[in-house]
Amino acid sequence: MQPINSKIVTVILVLILLMVLLYCYINQPYRFSIISAPLSELNEITKTNRSPSSEQKAITPNNRSDPTHIVTHEFHLVAPDHLQYQQPSIVFGRTDVVMVTPWLAPVVWEGTFNPNLLDSIYKLKNIRIAATVFAVGKYTIFLKNFLETAEQHFFVGFQVHVYVFTDRPLDVPQVKMSAGRQLTVRSVPNSQRWQEISARRMELIQKLIEDNLHSYADYIFCLDVDSQFHGRWGTESLGGLVGVIHPGYYRDDRSRFPYERRPESRAYVAPGEGDFYYCGGAFGGTLEEVHLLTKTCHTNFIDDAKEGIEAAWQEESHLNRYMWINKPSKVLSPEYLWQDFKPRNPEVHLVRFSGVIKNYAAIRPNV
Ligand code: UDP
Ligand code: MN
Repeated sequence: MQPINSKIVTVILVLILLMVLLYCYINQPYRFSIISAPLSELNEITKTNRSPSSEQKAITPNNRSDPTHIVTHEFHLVAPDHLQYQQPSIVFGRTDVVMVTPWLAPVVWEGTFNPNLLDSIYKLKNIRIAATVFAVGKYTIFLKNFLETAEQHFFVGFQVHVYVFTDRPLDVPQVKMSAGRQLTVRSVPNSQRWQEISARRMELIQKLIEDNLHSYADYIFCLDVDSQFHGRWGTESLGGLVGVIHPGYYRDDRSRFPYERRPESRAYVAPGEGDFYYCGGAFGGTLEEVHLLTKTCHTNFIDDAKEGIEAAWQEESHLNRYMWINKPSKVLSPEYLWQDFKPRNPEVHLVRFSGVIKNYAAIRPNV
């Protein structure tokens, strides 16, 4: 009898052990959520996060309890099955430029991304892009070229809503826009100082986002009007906070960057600090990120003014200070804002957007 009893005890112990193991396995917190949710449902989750009503509730800027903590869902990238494209490599590619920042944000250069793949991914997300452009005073002369070339190159095939801010609404040209693209004109007062016109953009973009833009757009880009598109500017530029590297300084030592150097200013960047010199003429990202950027830069600009100080390059200086602390999640190479007067450097394979040559004395209200 003795050996049979010990066998039964062993079997019972093994059974208990198996049941404990089974119990632990079943109760892994992530197991059922993944296995029981079919792919279609995962897609639904992504869509639901982005639906205007839920987004509005979650991120209405005025009601934010913690404005410095932004959670986005942009990293869930779903590609259509069976899409054919060139095999990617991690050992072959461009070697003449740096494609990632020290905080691991991509730096976008021609030849580093697949436009068709990216468009396919973002088509599924049904994204909407807002673009702001200011044309105050004589700067309305730049609108026609800006808007016409945007039709040819800026997020072609996507929903785009251009917001033109001007004091001369009657001078906004009629430009034929493709299906899914529209233009809204917003009236703004003129000013006797170009510095003020340029800097006030931050406040007006902040207000635009607060005026319920969440119902109409997912991403926003803020662009100078004295510029034109020459090549694709599309889904490769999307990110949380997107900065564009200024074409004038990217080969220079940081000591030569025209940051605000007076410690009294809120735009101050100390010697030996700063990553890149970013453009004030092009930046963007999600509505939440751009709202925080414009609000911060505007507030700092006003608080500086109260103390009688204006940063060296107005809102561009504040933006550079902001991006030193708040690192952009995507950095666009100078392909995304070149200057027409500047010969193309060899690493710039394609100029996508550039500032046109202008006669400052003829178009600005002051010198
Ligand atoms: N701007 C404007 N009217 C002015 C001055 C500036 O509408 O009288 C706007 C316009 O959108 C312009 C931007 O502010 O593109 C920045 O100014 P600007 O292009 O003259 O600066 P730059 O690119 O030469 O530094
Ligand atoms: Mn400009």
